[in-house]
Amino acid sequence: MKLAEKLAAWLEAGRADLGEVRIGRTAEGFELHHYLDEPGELQSYQQAEDAIELGKLDAAGKYRPLRSAPTLQRGWRLELGSLEDVVRALEFFYPAMLGTAAAFEEKAGRPVDLRETLNRQSGMYRVAGKITNEQADALIGEVCPPNRCLKTITWQIEPGVAITSLPAGKLELGHDLLECGRGFIPLPCEECCNILVAAARETVKRAPA
Ligand code: SF4
Repeated sequence: MKLAEKLAAWLEAGRADLGEVRIGRTAEGFELHHYLDEPGELQSYQQAEDAIELGKLDAAGKYRPLRSAPTLQRGWRLELGSLEDVVRALEFFYPAMLGTAAAFEEKAGRPVDLRETLNRQSGMYRVAGKITNEQADALIGEVCPPNRCLKTITWQIEPGVAITSLPAGKLELGHDLLECGRGFIPLPCEECCNILVAAARETVKRAPA
C-alpha cells in the first residue's frame, strides 16, 4: 500500500497526530499545525518543503539535531492540497517514520538490538561497543526519555536483555507518549540513533580503565 493510502486509512480511523504534528482537513485539502496550537492566528505556509525549515530550529532558534525531540516550534500552519503533499511534509518533519510505522503495523518492523548496532560501528565510534549492559541501560534512561525523544523504542539492549530505565510506555507502540488522548500514528525507533551511539562512546571513554 502506498504511504498516501496508508495515511488516508489512518486519518479515516481518527489517527491524525504524528509526533507533535496534527493533521486536519479543510475545504481545500489539509492543514498541518503543532498539536498545541489551534488553527487560526498562525503564520501560514503552502509548500510541503516549508516543513524543512519549520522542523530545523526550535522556538529559541536552536538547531534540532534530533527531529523526534519534543521541541518542534509552534505558531505555523501548513496548508496543503493533496495527501501526497501531506506525506512529503511529514517525511520532512519525521524522516522515514510513516513507512516505519506502517511496517510495524503490518508486523514487518525489524528492530535492531543496541549491541548489534554498536558492534557494527567503525573508526572513532568502534569503542562504543565496549559499553556494559548496565551502563547502556542507564544511558538509555538519560538520552531517550519522552521529554527528550518522542520515538517508541522497539529494540532491546541485546537478546534477552530488556531496557529497565524508561517508563513502560516508552517501549509500547500503542502508548500515547504526548498523552493527548487522541488517535495517533506512532514513531517507532527501529534502531538506536547516532546521538545514543555518540553518548555510548563518551560513556566508555569516561569510565575508569
Ligand atoms: S535511540 Fe531512538 S528513542 Fe533514543 S533518542 Fe535516539 S531516536 Fe530517540
